[in-house]
Amino acid sequence: MDLGLADRTIVVTGGSSGVGLATVRALLDEGANVATCGRDADRLARATAGLDAGRLLTAVCDVRDAGAVRDVVEQAAGRFGGVDGLVNNAGQSRMKGLDESTADDWRDELELKFHGVLNPLHAARPHLKASDAASVVNVNAVLAKQPEPRLITTSAARAGILNLSKSLSVELAADGIRVNSVCLGLIDTGQWTRRHAAADTDQSYEEWQAHLAADRGVALGRLGRADEVAYAIVALLSPRASYITGTAIDVCGGVGRSIL
Ligand code: NDP
Repeated sequence: MDLGLADRTIVVTGGSSGVGLATVRALLDEGANVATCGRDADRLARATAGLDAGRLLTAVCDVRDAGAVRDVVEQAAGRFGGVDGLVNNAGQSRMKGLDESTADDWRDELELKFHGVLNPLHAARPHLKASDAASVVNVNAVLAKQPEPRLITTSAARAGILNLSKSLSVELAADGIRVNSVCLGLIDTGQWTRRHAAADTDQSYEEWQAHLAADRGVALGRLGRADEVAYAIVALLSPRASYITGTAIDVCGGVGRSIL
């Protein structure tokens, strides 16, 4: 099936690792133009080396910096002639419970999660409005619907972003901009390799992952792959998804137990 993404331009935040990088690759495979960013220049350069530079724009940018995000979006629009899609992916989780979470943790988490969506959205909105197939995908977590006390700030912020996504889908529908979310479970990316490296364990990464999946009750019995998430994101970006807005797709191997 032709997803209709060839020559469309998509901005993907946080494209130097994991889900963002898999999404960049999948979009390039579909013939789209892609702009992506990350904070670490070396990591971004290493991750995107070998990809089609003719259709890929990379920029060092922190999504919390509205001006820097605007520059990336304007560069993309200038080089490729517009912006048709936005994937708000950049971010990370904060493994802390109530008693460990300081006021700074709460402020930093809410700033990253909310401005990580709002800054790119404000920057891209005029370009999205001009597109005939505009789509925004917010990369979220099943934590939004199923909070984990050991990730208390992240769970609360994720719930807020799911709520925000619904409001945006209604608000932006008049401009022809669809807004959807993907809610991730445990996906095998840098987030988990870093946690394994920091864990006090003799288990190999594979053993540790298998134990983790069992401990968290992942129905499919394993962590997901970044390309399995990218598939859902690309589907929501496609003009073929033209009647899908305001929804959230769980990509979580069955770890999510919410029926809503
Ligand atoms: P990775 O750590 O593998 O990749 C995160 C990417 O985001 C990197 O490119 C990183 O680059 C970039 N990034 C992080 N913070 C910023 C920032 N402030 N500004 C710009 N870029 C930034 O993570 P994942 O692929 O696992 O995660 C992708 C998204 O999915 C995140 O929002 C994460 O919270 C969410 N998620 C992931 C889950 C999982 O199990 N993996 C589960 C639930 C949600 P750099 O550090 O150089 O800036």
